[in-house]
Amino acid sequence: MLINIGQLVTLRSAQTGPRRGTSLSELDIVENAAVLSLGGKIVSVGTAKDALRDPWLKKNRKKVTEIDCGGRVVLPGFVDSHTHPVFMEPRLVDFEKRIAGAGYEEIAAAGGGIRSSLDGVRKASKVTLTQRVLDALRDLAKHGTTTVEAKSGYGLNLESELKSLEAIRAAAKQWPGMVVPTFLGAHVVPPEYRGRSQNYVEIVCKEMIPAVAKRKLAKFVDVFCDRGAFSEIECSRIFGAALEHGLAIRGHVGQLSYPKEGFIESTLECCQPASLDHMDHVRDDEVAALAKSDTVVTLVPGANYFLGLEKYPPARKFIDSGVAVALATDYNPGTSPTISMSMAMSLACTHMKMSPAEAIAAATINGAFALGLDNRKGSVEPGKDADMAVFDARNYKEIPYWFGVNRCVQTIIGGVANT
Ligand SMILES: [Zn+2]
Repeated sequence: MLINIGQLVTLRSAQTGPRRGTSLSELDIVENAAVLSLGGKIVSVGTAKDALRDPWLKKNRKKVTEIDCGGRVVLPGFVDSHTHPVFMEPRLVDFEKRIAGAGYEEIAAAGGGIRSSLDGVRKASKVTLTQRVLDALRDLAKHGTTTVEAKSGYGLNLESELKSLEAIRAAAKQWPGMVVPTFLGAHVVPPEYRGRSQNYVEIVCKEMIPAVAKRKLAKFVDVFCDRGAFSEIECSRIFGAALEHGLAIRGHVGQLSYPKEGFIESTLECCQPASLDHMDHVRDDEVAALAKSDTVVTLVPGANYFLGLEKYPPARKFIDSGVAVALATDYNPGTSPTISMSMAMSLACTHMKMSPAEAIAAATINGAFALGLDNRKGSVEPGKDADMAVFDARNYKEIPYWFGVNRCVQTIIGGVANT
């Protein structure tokens, strides 16, 4: 049982579906709160006064493990719905090149970017990759994250993509939080298929996706659909193959350039993607179509920050138009080397003009919707998994306010104190 919670942000709600518009800022806060969990699930949420009057608790108090939150803020554990944790080395050369003025596509064309992470992953053993992923998961938990979506995508051949997904699975088994694996074989065209992207797409569709589905290594298939990556036609083919094999869809869309007109609308209709991510480049009619769908737009401002961009995705336009938005770190070695959801929230507030309340809902409950886990994650209410994070703060608004530091002092996963 968590007791002595100064401010409990529950995000309870009677409404169904992801949060949109004004409901994104409805946090349902309980002051001086307590949360009781049993067998990993939350059984009651309320004021400490009410909890201590509960007859069951009066009788069983001695048997219950108490976690004293010291009057601090408690949130549902963050749901980081977009990460790329299977890589070996940081990309320090790209980092310095960019500082010296090179752009994303220029770096990629010179052999940097995603392709420069291939060698490390292809040569690494599964055990080594597993350890890398596990280190990241443990670090994420220290920063308040209890559910993580994890993509492959730095192997880019059958063997190394399977190895990457197996590493995610092996790491997930050793970590108490939940990991949702995503196959991102279509991250970029690997160098051996340069100029022959269709041949690579063929392998993704005919060899990789069937192998991933057969081994149940992923819940989602993701594609980087953008200039310099995969075209809309290639992306649609891959989505089709994923659906045929019973895998759900998510996509990297509109980061570097506008997608082809009509692509977003047709993808929403044919594939009901759980999430479309980045969306720096979006047209008004696409925003209107997204607002009518249950697809979440996952914003990853860490990438804009780290690329040193002036422009950020139009979060206000999405929210004010009724699109469901989530926030994620996009943890990866090239464009967003951070595991901090608090930092993503801070960037959302300062650069995308989201309120602290909106940023919290986007980082928790809407992240859960973006992963199809809204029945278990993202809010503190009876029946859900007892995943929470304690922050050294008196007010939830302090979490995005104190940027660049970790105020998370404890993470509770399945009712058990983790850090
Ligand atoms: Zn990404």
